[in-house]
Amino acid sequence: MKLPVYLDYQATTPTDPRVVAAMLPFFTEEFGNPHATNHDYGRRAEEAVGAGRLAVANLIGADPKEIIFTSGATEANNLALTGCVEAHRDGKNHLVVSQTEHSSVLEVCRLLEDKGCQVTYLPVGENGLIDVARLGAAIGPRTLLLSVMAVNNEIGVIQPLKEIGAICRESGVLLHTDAAQAVGKIPIDVNAMGVHLLSLSSHKMYGPKGIGALYVRRRPRVRLRAQIVGGGQERGLRSGTVPTPLVVGLGEACILAAKNMVEESVRVRQLRDRFFDTVHASLPDVFLNGDPTQRIPGNINLGFPQVDGLELIKSLDHVALSAGSACTAARPGSSHVLRAIGADDARARSSIRVGIGRFTSEAEIDFAACAIIRRVQELRSCSVRHQVGAVEVQTVHGN
Ligand SMILES: *Cc1c(COP(=O)(O)O)cnc(C)c1O
Repeated sequence: MKLPVYLDYQATTPTDPRVVAAMLPFFTEEFGNPHATNHDYGRRAEEAVGAGRLAVANLIGADPKEIIFTSGATEANNLALTGCVEAHRDGKNHLVVSQTEHSSVLEVCRLLEDKGCQVTYLPVGENGLIDVARLGAAIGPRTLLLSVMAVNNEIGVIQPLKEIGAICRESGVLLHTDAAQAVGKIPIDVNAMGVHLLSLSSHKMYGPKGIGALYVRRRPRVRLRAQIVGGGQERGLRSGTVPTPLVVGLGEACILAAKNMVEESVRVRQLRDRFFDTVHASLPDVFLNGDPTQRIPGNINLGFPQVDGLELIKSLDHVALSAGSACTAARPGSSHVLRAIGADDARARSSIRVGIGRFTSEAEIDFAACAIIRRVQELRSCSVRHQVGAVEVQTVHGN
């Protein structure tokens, strides 16, 4: 077992060795510029980019022409929101987003507000889910776009996108979803969900860091304004040389995800349940943040009353965990997601995020659960801990 045990799969995933193997030739032998297609080097790179694009499209039920490669989900979210607003100068300048969106959506909204847009930040229930019945009231005649993440990166809940998509269709509103935590983990179909724009990230699904994609619907065509201009690559929506090795890696990650999704989700769910049951057996007051059933297999966000989550995480030398998103890691208790689900400061502060994935083993789960139980018990009886420490020191000196 490699220590520390890695339980932070929502922050990032290791690149699958099969993905790395697929990428390697495209750094050295097949190094051509995929846009320089007057010779074989360029043509072979272009072909590889095409295959990667097809793999991404297949995983989400899209057409390859609808896939725009970006540097990651952050850039895809920026392009989706800002690009959409800037392409629609028809008086529609109202956006609706959930309060639990990733910072790469929320911060874009702040910028757009500065530029004169109106943004409604939609509340979620205590389970972290959007109340679909109340969604209609937030949509008005000037609403251009609704943005709701498919899966939350802190508490792992799955939003009812299909229902949300139906409401958008009825009211003529575009639907964007940040699916960085969903693609490759749960089935995603852009047509069944009725989404117009979808962001994904390679490094959340065992692909390399530094690449992602934005799905842009063609029928009906969604108009966007490019945010990065230059050579006009990616249908003019995202200039810059497409990084062939990264595209090949993302494509391979998509193929592996499609092939193993069902089996992997069963295995990861069993590990998650084993982890929770073990912890719960020793610490019956542990609580779960977010809906108990509408969630991805590989995440649980847990709280331990009277324990400081950050202190707990920092004191676990052999388990790598986060309190929440990487972006709020320095400020636990200030998680906007936990606040949105109605957690008070104490509850938010006592919570930790456990991310389980493809390379997690049963032995690692048992090790981590035991380490956490022991440390929570120690933190709760600080005085006892000091006594035990003193005894240990005496014993050492006695020898
Ligand atoms: C990680 C993440 C992002 C950012 O993705 P990058 O590819 O790292 O830019 C955006 N949204 C969600 C929900 C994420 O989990």
